[in-house]
Amino acid sequence: MTASAEPLIELRRVSRSYGDGAARVVALDDVSLSLEAGVFAAFMGPSGSGKSTLLNIISGIDCASAGEVRVGGRRIDRMNEDELARWRARHVGLVFQSFNLVPVLSALENVALPLLLFDLSGEERRRRAALALGIVGLGERLEHRPSQLSGGEQQRVAIARALITDPELVVADEPTGNLDAKSAEAVLDLLRELRARLGKTIVMVTHDPRALRWVDRSFHLDKGRLLSGAAAEQAARALRAVADAASQAVGAGAALGRA
Ligand code: ADP
Ligand code: MG
Repeated sequence: MTASAEPLIELRRVSRSYGDGAARVVALDDVSLSLEAGVFAAFMGPSGSGKSTLLNIISGIDCASAGEVRVGGRRIDRMNEDELARWRARHVGLVFQSFNLVPVLSALENVALPLLLFDLSGEERRRRAALALGIVGLGERLEHRPSQLSGGEQQRVAIARALITDPELVVADEPTGNLDAKSAEAVLDLLRELRARLGKTIVMVTHDPRALRWVDRSFHLDKGRLLSGAAAEQAARALRAVADAASQAVGAGAALGRA
């Protein structure tokens, strides 16, 4: 076996609080973790447990109040806002629950948007955007506006947009939160495929226990703290039980439908 490479993401004793005095909220409390490259990982936990805060700190959207944040060997907690914005544009693709597409632009134009920061011809931008839409299975929908696409298709456009700059890291905050079960599965399949075929590292926040079936690793948060050891295993077991019960209910529903 070769010596394992440096992790892509490394957090040391990261905390994030908002406000002060009596109004102080500790969103993240002394979180340390490391994640190797090329993995599909999920941050899970109840609402308000700090999942989005953690994802935002890893992707340089938000800054830690304390601790060290390394991504791709760089100390992003030491970057100023300009440096962070430049770093993010090259290294991170963002996917949100609400898709965040520009309604008046076509799928192709939406996907090409992040390339405006790069010195490329319009033709090259369009060529790359068409390629990215092909990867997510929407090669036939280049000229559609978001309102002419289903929720699942819109999220796939957003994923193509996240890929367009060829970032090593794709982060997704509740990417299936606005989707029906079938579209959600298609999006999870696609994210897993990005990991397998393109070698991307995918970090997703979700409170959907079924997502456990798609990911390589799961991290469990509770009240701003990362669970470890037996507590983390117990949280994962509880979620799996919920997911199994849900899929049995779906199976039973399908059987009834066939009867
Ligand atoms: P999750 O994504 O797990 O639902 P969040 O990371 O969004 O949780 O939030 C964690 C905690 O931090 C919550 O109690 C939330 O209210 C608080 N919080 C998040 N962002 C802010 C903010 N900008 N100002 C004040 N409190 C915040
Ligand atoms: Mg959240």
